[in-house]
Amino acid sequence: MFANGLTYLAIPGPSVMPDRVLRAMHRPAPNIYTGELHDVTRSLFPDLKAVAGTKHDVAIYIANGHGVWEAALSNVIAEGDTVLVLATGRFCVGWGEMADSLGAQVETIDFGDSDAVDLAQVEAALKADTGGKIKAILTVLVDTSTGVLNDIKGLRGVLDKVGHDALLMCDCIASLGCDEFQMDEWGVDITVAASQKGLMTPPGIGFVWFNDKADRVRGDMKRVSRYWDWRPRASGEEYWQFFDGTAPTHHLYGLREALDMIKEEGLSNIWARHEGLAKAIWAAIDAWSLDGPLAINVADVAQRSRAVTSLRLDEGQGDALRAWCEDAMGVTLGIGLGRTPASAFFRLGHMGHVNGHMVLGFLGTIDAGLKALGIAHGKGALEAASAVLADLAGAQPRIARADNSIDKCCG
Ligand SMILES: *Cc1c(COP(=O)(O)O)cnc(C)c1O
Repeated sequence: MFANGLTYLAIPGPSVMPDRVLRAMHRPAPNIYTGELHDVTRSLFPDLKAVAGTKHDVAIYIANGHGVWEAALSNVIAEGDTVLVLATGRFCVGWGEMADSLGAQVETIDFGDSDAVDLAQVEAALKADTGGKIKAILTVLVDTSTGVLNDIKGLRGVLDKVGHDALLMCDCIASLGCDEFQMDEWGVDITVAASQKGLMTPPGIGFVWFNDKADRVRGDMKRVSRYWDWRPRASGEEYWQFFDGTAPTHHLYGLREALDMIKEEGLSNIWARHEGLAKAIWAAIDAWSLDGPLAINVADVAQRSRAVTSLRLDEGQGDALRAWCEDAMGVTLGIGLGRTPASAFFRLGHMGHVNGHMVLGFLGTIDAGLKALGIAHGKGALEAASAVLADLAGAQPRIARADNSIDKCCG
């Protein structure tokens, strides 16, 4: 009934694409042999490193998140190697399944669907591994199915404390450029991410960052599949570096524009924007939760992502609310991926190109949906969210200026 107009995708990826990115991609097929496309591609490497907080190497693949899962594993995990999966939702489990399909021995510690990794349990598991069998730890910065944020720096602390040599591999696909992440400072050996979430570019290209230790492990591998090998992509001749085949031409232009937007705003400003918007969303949820079935999945604020939020209603109500928001208002909410019963859950993506009016728009839509469907809920959610934004922005909001932290990192 009220859906005609600009529709809105409030799901945790793909995220909202900025008009600037779309315009940058709207061009005829470029020359792939030489010239501008090569300059654009070359310019992406330092900025991608800066976004991940690393001075080490990055390889670009034509792949989605699942592709870079396999790419990262293929460089360091051979058949029979053991990996330890720290499961805080569907996504890290999925990375473990990918490792299993490549012949790895997969050990999993399951922290449930609403809690972050418990460092004490990881410490115990590493201590018990006296033979040093565990070659890599697979973890996620944010699990997109649950909205759980993990303490990656803390994990490095545990590895160092125990003196365990395992590679620390981190999936940042959900929230690179949304939740703070510092690959080098936090001691991560391998990071994976893809274009379509915080990086605001259509799905289709993905990235693997790896440090010297990870590359030494790569060097000891008997064989690495030709397509996934990160070495020629990170430092080979142009042909290999630029895609081992046809380049993803338009994605490169789109990503160039998205990285320019990130540089203009500055990473620390971007993290602060996501934090403020998340606080407004949490305030609305706190109000709704005062009455009726609605609850946020992750109770502990310190364990919540600033990019994706998972919510629970009664069975069937999550699906009903999603359908109402889309059909009546033109807003698409995320499905209850990997949860039981899936029909009770829904998720909100608030990653990348998202600002205050977008957040107030989807919160207002959900509020209307709860009313229309007769789902009991506490009142005052929008009042609470707008109060948070008003307070954080202040009476004379200043335009966030880039502090050039993206440049500082890798010069
Ligand atoms: C989205 C996502 C993936 C999967 O990415 P695809 O591009 O859908 O393959 C993996 N891990 C996390 C944490 C994600 O958010």
